Amino acid sequence: MAAISIKNVIKRYGAGHKTTQVIHGVDAEIADHEFVVIVGPSGCGKSTLLRMVAGLEEISGGEIAIGGRVVNDVEPAERDIAMVFQNYALYPHMSVFDNMAYGLKIAKVPIAEIKTRVDKAAGILQLGALLQRKPRELSGGQRQRVAMGRAIVREPQVFLFDEPLSNLDAKLRAQTRLEIQKLHRELGVTSLFVTHDQVEAMTLAERMIVMNAGRMEQIGTPEAVYQRPATTFVAGFIGSPPMNLLQGTAAGAQFNVAGPSLPLPAPAPRDGELIMGLRPEHADLGDNGGWPLKVEMIEMLGAERLVYGRIGDALFTVRIDGTRHPPAIGDVVSLRMDTAHLHWFDAATQQRVEP
Ligand code: ADP
Repeated sequence: MAAISIKNVIKRYGAGHKTTQVIHGVDAEIADHEFVVIVGPSGCGKSTLLRMVAGLEEISGGEIAIGGRVVNDVEPAERDIAMVFQNYALYPHMSVFDNMAYGLKIAKVPIAEIKTRVDKAAGILQLGALLQRKPRELSGGQRQRVAMGRAIVREPQVFLFDEPLSNLDAKLRAQTRLEIQKLHRELGVTSLFVTHDQVEAMTLAERMIVMNAGRMEQIGTPEAVYQRPATTFVAGFIGSPPMNLLQGTAAGAQFNVAGPSLPLPAPAPRDGELIMGLRPEHADLGDNGGWPLKVEMIEMLGAERLVYGRIGDALFTVRIDGTRHPPAIGDVVSLRMDTAHLHWFDAATQQRVEP
């Protein structure tokens, strides 16, 4: 097993005046045994970064090392990695056993060793009873497990996952997430996992890399990223519904939000143009004393209700307990804020400002 070191990695596509740069200098140190998720919206460069680690894309600048060895010019097959794709790409005419054994046969691993490794992986993935089936005789979830089995039998130093759960329905995705966690606990192989789904990232990651437009916005544990987002982008991307972000001008004890001037619930870190952030679960509805929120819409989600309203022109969401009596649409209610959970960002740089 091995650490992965990504140093100032850049990717450009095309040549001459048609060059476009899609990765703008990413730095990340992934420890041996660590499970790191790369998350961000479609087109932000997650797959490109992963494919550069795999060796499927050339690196335009910077350095990638696996287990202390710089692999910039090392062929994918020589990098001691195994990749699991969204599209499982199983051989339809081969049995589950042969699909899992195929890479080892090509690598001329002795047949007894192949059998031992496939049986072991099948045991871990609960595929033992399915080894003689063809892929068409399997469910989507089972095919996914075969694809993972194919990676496991190679006993690589690193697993690279490229949106492996995207083809599964919601329930199966949740179940497979748990299986991948268990697998990581058992095998401890250093893993990089790409997804656009922030829930998947939060639940799987030991640390997550949040990417936006070819840049790394933040790297940290799910708790750190959720509780102390480094930028407004991270604040808005991680968490559902997203963090409320209100732009305004802080002046002393007042906050001017394009219209109303409101008393600050807690001192701002400084005067001037700032963005205040508060997650929906850290806001509540009261009768009086707080900022006026005009209710526009309510969603009942079972355990909770989401109350959507406006402060001046700005949208604001509050999460309340589903058993509570909700306000009526059009009501103006009083917003209570848990001031221990207020976030502040610089309006110009969009970077977090510590109080
Ligand atoms: P993600 O995985 O986050 O959805 P990608 O890594 O696939 O994003 O793509 C990042 C950016 O690079 C996108 O803007 C995409 O259009 C661009 N891109 C990807 N592959 C190529 C290519 N072969 N040529 C030019 N641009 C590409």
